[in-house]
Amino acid sequence: MPLRFYNTLTQALEEFQPLDGKTVRMYTCGPTVYHYVHIGNFRTFSFQDVLRRTLAARGFRLDHVMNITDVEENIIRNAKAARQTLREYTAQYTQAFLDDSAQLRLQRPEHIAFATEHIDEMVTAIQGLAASQHTYESDGSTYFRIGSFPQYGKLSHTNFSGNIAGARVEVDEYEKDDARDFVLWKAQKPGEPAWETPLGAGRPGWHIECSVMAMKYLGETIDIHTGGVDLVFPHHENEIAQSEALTGKPFARFWLHAEHLMVEGQKMSKSLGNFFTLRDILDRGYSPEAIRYLLISAPYHKQLNFTFEGLKAAATSIERLRNFQLRLANERFAEGGNPQLDQRAEDAIIAFHAGLDDDLNTADALAAVFEYIRDMNSEMDAGEFGASNAASAARVLAEFDAIFDVLRPTARDGALTDAEVDALVEARTQAKKARDFAKADQIRKDLLDQGVVLEDTKDGPRWKRK
Ligand code: AMP
Ligand code: ZN
Repeated sequence: MPLRFYNTLTQALEEFQPLDGKTVRMYTCGPTVYHYVHIGNFRTFSFQDVLRRTLAARGFRLDHVMNITDVEENIIRNAKAARQTLREYTAQYTQAFLDDSAQLRLQRPEHIAFATEHIDEMVTAIQGLAASQHTYESDGSTYFRIGSFPQYGKLSHTNFSGNIAGARVEVDEYEKDDARDFVLWKAQKPGEPAWETPLGAGRPGWHIECSVMAMKYLGETIDIHTGGVDLVFPHHENEIAQSEALTGKPFARFWLHAEHLMVEGQKMSKSLGNFFTLRDILDRGYSPEAIRYLLISAPYHKQLNFTFEGLKAAATSIERLRNFQLRLANERFAEGGNPQLDQRAEDAIIAFHAGLDDDLNTADALAAVFEYIRDMNSEMDAGEFGASNAASAARVLAEFDAIFDVLRPTARDGALTDAEVDALVEARTQAKKARDFAKADQIRKDLLDQGVVLEDTKDGPRWKRK
């Protein structure tokens, strides 16, 4: 079956091949590093990991760029409040993002590109747009004139004709039906950091950074551009306008967008405050594999509602997979085997990849694996599974784990999880009830040694981390 993706640009499922037949040139909008990245953001980054691994399983090489947005309003405001330079401030969150990505086993893109390290290239691009009459200046800032790009709206499938009034906007994000000229270069405001350039003292807008970094590393036409659905408009629409106005060539052939991670019907977002970071989740005693599994087990083009029940179910699913792997390794099966069961394994592998090839339908891919495991457990119980069938079963798990990567447990760093603290607090309560005060005191001291402070209140014991 051919590999097919839903392309936002054409609104159709299309067969995918890289332009040169071998290497997939792909660009991903990375995080804005003014805070810890939340697991909603990681849903989009995890989808990209599944995409990478699926392309690699197909034999393609990857040339993948992700940017880090390390200058924008929130960063400037927060760095100022923290009395740090932009670089000092963003370095800690960039590192946290890379650490969290590694914990979630997200393969690192071939290039990580920082906006502030590409200012010269952005200035050159803006000058190129100015030379071809796509820009104008106002109060020291430079704007892109969207009326100069007749195809504006082609990605978000909005017909803006007649609606383009020449109003302009300085902020980077705005509503979909509100087409406005957007800022390429922002004039310096008092007290803000700025770069002295031929465009004047200022800093780049968000949109230009992605166009410039994508084309610098990947060329004028790239194979795949990805991000979350909230980036379709205005960000990606603006990326297309800038890039194509500059080169006259199609900017990206395939646009893939991940649907949101939701919380009680609303998008998980920093601004709504309804978010969890990876650290929040790990502190509650869940493993990075459980959250990885949860984020990727639902197809990326469907919204996913985040709940702790869902996270527990993900952990249980991983246990089932690991138990099967253990059984394969430890059980003594009869000599020989049943060739039909090897065939069954091959069919499961084909069905697994067919799911992925169908626009990364991870739910179908998983169903194929779980159905196989259920059947093999029955065959093992019935004594039908022979020693020679173990190799094909191991192959199913290997094909699965090359994409899902959840079978290996993460080594723990020794910190107590919330669930472990709760269990110790309960053990102390029981010790007190049994009037074993020495034991109760010892538990309290042990907790303190591990950074957990326990207090007795009239409502019972309470604990917090130091
Ligand atoms: P940001 O740092 O806000 O630019 O977001 C980084 C990436 O995460 C972008 O691709 C966003 O589209 C994506 N994103 C933001 N919120 C969510 C969410 N709740 N679910 C899935 N992806 C999201
Ligand atoms: Zn971008």
